[in-house]
Amino acid sequence: MPKNYYNILGIEKGASKDEIKKAFRKKAHQYHPDKETGDEAKFKEINEAYQVLSDEQKRAQYDQYGQTFDGAGGFPGGGAGFGGFGAGGINIDDLGDMFGDFFGGGFGGSRTRTQRGQDIQVDVSLTFKESIFGAEKEISLTKQNNCNRCGGVGAEPGSSMKTCGTCHGQGFEVRVQRTMLGNMQTRVTCSTCHGTGEVPETACSNCDGAGIEHGKKTLRVDIPAGVEHGMRIRVRGEGEAVQGGQAGDLYLIVHIERSREFVRHGNDLFVEVKIGFTQAALGDEIEVPTLDGKAKLKIPAGIQSGEKLRMRGKGVRGSRPGDQYVVITVVTPKKLSKKQRKVLAELDLNE
Ligand SMILES: [Zn+2]
Ligand SMILES: [Zn+2]
Repeated sequence: MPKNYYNILGIEKGASKDEIKKAFRKKAHQYHPDKETGDEAKFKEINEAYQVLSDEQKRAQYDQYGQTFDGAGGFPGGGAGFGGFGAGGINIDDLGDMFGDFFGGGFGGSRTRTQRGQDIQVDVSLTFKESIFGAEKEISLTKQNNCNRCGGVGAEPGSSMKTCGTCHGQGFEVRVQRTMLGNMQTRVTCSTCHGTGEVPETACSNCDGAGIEHGKKTLRVDIPAGVEHGMRIRVRGEGEAVQGGQAGDLYLIVHIERSREFVRHGNDLFVEVKIGFTQAALGDEIEVPTLDGKAKLKIPAGIQSGEKLRMRGKGVRGSRPGDQYVVITVVTPKKLSKKQRKVLAELDLNE
């Protein structure tokens, strides 16, 4: 069933343009989503009704057919809150000084957003083994920190907080600007309480109530096992602290020293091992490095240079543990004694 736009705006069917505008403004004030009496669905409906009834052509269509024909779903506008305005919802002109109300103080809308401190990014170097097994790293930063004494609150320990006298607890101050739409009020973060709406009864003696102090801070950070080169680890809240706001985050960029023994591909490890000519021909048992230390590995007889031997589960541990591959290089002797040469020649090993 089509909506009754006249009922929505609370006017008679024969209402004049002025009456429509007046009714719309009254209702829009009442139901604006930012108001305590707000109702987003109703506000959209009011907007929709006004879009039609304020346009002569659309109104005529509506009066005749009970609907308008400007496309599926009908009416533009009415996104959530202010977002909907730009999308072709309300004619700004028709709202006039309502802007002052919308942006100004007075109704229990959201408090002015508090600030957030800058993020910090630092490199952290790990040995290969540390990257595999995880490590605790000490990181020293010189930055804005939450005050050690008051924990960032700005109050002397034991002192309570009171409502900010500058903004009366609102966290913002209202500035009035003259614009072509009339007086426009804007909110700025309160310069006394920095948006929190509260100030300490007695200011912290260390930071003078600021809640922050500049200085060196040393952190112990647990680097998880299995990190890879170039990974970013976030340490929440350890960036720059900011007065009356939330500290930024610290990002650690992982640098891993190359290992002399291991090359990592995902969770698999590769180790190159050189064996002698005779070991390759006859087979042997040798010792190879693994993450757990030296381990024995059987070389099958007749192995070729470049062949890989797999040690299952000996790679990087994790949700899917990797394997270790031992890449065999057979070293052909460069110098032979007379006797060796003689024996080899007699053997004539050409296959
Ligand atoms: Zn303090
Ligand atoms: Zn304040």
